[in-house]
Amino acid sequence: MGQGLKNRGKGRADVEDRRKAVEDYTETKLEHIGAMSFDPQLAEKNIENMIGAVQVPVGFVGPLRVNGDEARGEFLVPLATTEGALLASVNRGCSVISAAGGAASVVVKDEMTRAPVFRVKDARHAVQAGKWVEGNFQKLKEAAEATTGHGKLLSAAVFASGRSLFVRFAYSTGDAMGMNMATIATEAASRLIEKETGAVLVSVSGNLCTDKKPAAVNSILGRGKIVLADVTVPRALLEEKMHATPEAVAETCFRKCEVGSAMAASYGYNAHAANMLAAVYIATGQDPAQVAEGSMVMTTCEVVDGDLYISVRLPCVEVGTVGGGTRLPCQSEALSMIGCAGAGKARKLAEIVGAVVLAGELSTLCAQAAGQLGSAHKALGR
Ligand code: NAP
Repeated sequence: MGQGLKNRGKGRADVEDRRKAVEDYTETKLEHIGAMSFDPQLAEKNIENMIGAVQVPVGFVGPLRVNGDEARGEFLVPLATTEGALLASVNRGCSVISAAGGAASVVVKDEMTRAPVFRVKDARHAVQAGKWVEGNFQKLKEAAEATTGHGKLLSAAVFASGRSLFVRFAYSTGDAMGMNMATIATEAASRLIEKETGAVLVSVSGNLCTDKKPAAVNSILGRGKIVLADVTVPRALLEEKMHATPEAVAETCFRKCEVGSAMAASYGYNAHAANMLAAVYIATGQDPAQVAEGSMVMTTCEVVDGDLYISVRLPCVEVGTVGGGTRLPCQSEALSMIGCAGAGKARKLAEIVGAVVLAGELSTLCAQAAGQLGSAHKALGR
């Protein structure tokens, strides 16, 4: 049944026909899934076999003061979630950060990667093909950039093991998150490598990229945007608003985020960064599967001159303000709320994401330091 309907049109009537067929087949009324506000044609590049839309509750946190390079001022940030207590908690963090003068948030690296895997004859062939790649960057750049107006090839790093050769291509992708762009460009560059070296392209993604999976290579080198955000919260403000001392929060962070994460051999040295990332990504049309690598955030706290210094390092903020899900109407409205719709806004969005993650980390660490986490969830989430 799915196959028969798959290739039909993507207009409103087509979506209704398909939904009716699914309702009959599954004997399930899809009243709410069908009650969508936008023209399904707008989603034609985003989904196949469309039958409607799922509505995820969306709220706001803020005003959140951000002192970034691009994001400067106070923002009401949209978050979409079904986790009760999340927005209340992040909002508490926003209020303390803003009262402390705002969060610094900066993008320190901005590269999207794709790493194809080639089959080579043996180790010598791997070295020979790798040398060709390293010696012919300009030719690879021309082949890759012939496929895109905004994508720029920045580097091509070679890795080999046995009869497998990997080239980790890194691109600047303008205001797009860049995954389609980088994949298409990489395919073109890979065909040139095949032609010139005899290496055989096995897969345009060889998992050294690494997309939608936690991986040390991403944590160290970054993927998408690396964002650093921090704030110093004065002791009196922390004690008044969060009912916790800087020492208690710093100890909670050390024993939980650093020692506990190391004990668990986790890549995520943080309290719950994935919560904020997922909620912003869903609200603003980012690819939520990239929370997998996005979650590898490192949160650190120190007591500095009696106050609490807290920071987050986000190695993989894979966001865009054009392309992907950002063109859908609800998501585009959410981007507009923070002045991030359209071209020229991707770094600003990444800085806001960094500041929101900082707010969520601050609030949750304070709640745990003050022994309030369970009671807050009991009161708000159940
Ligand atoms: P895209 O929508 O596929 O491409 C962005 C488009 O916007 C390009 O056609 C680009 O043109 C154009 N563009 C216009 N103004 C731009 C500007 N200022 N900056 C950058 N581009 C501009 O989006 P994408 O970010 O490359 O890919 C995102 C999508 O990839 C998401 O839907 C995600 O779910 C999906 N995804 C794909 C893969 C994969 O392996 N293919 C993996 C993970 C996720 P030019 O190219 O001519 O510059």
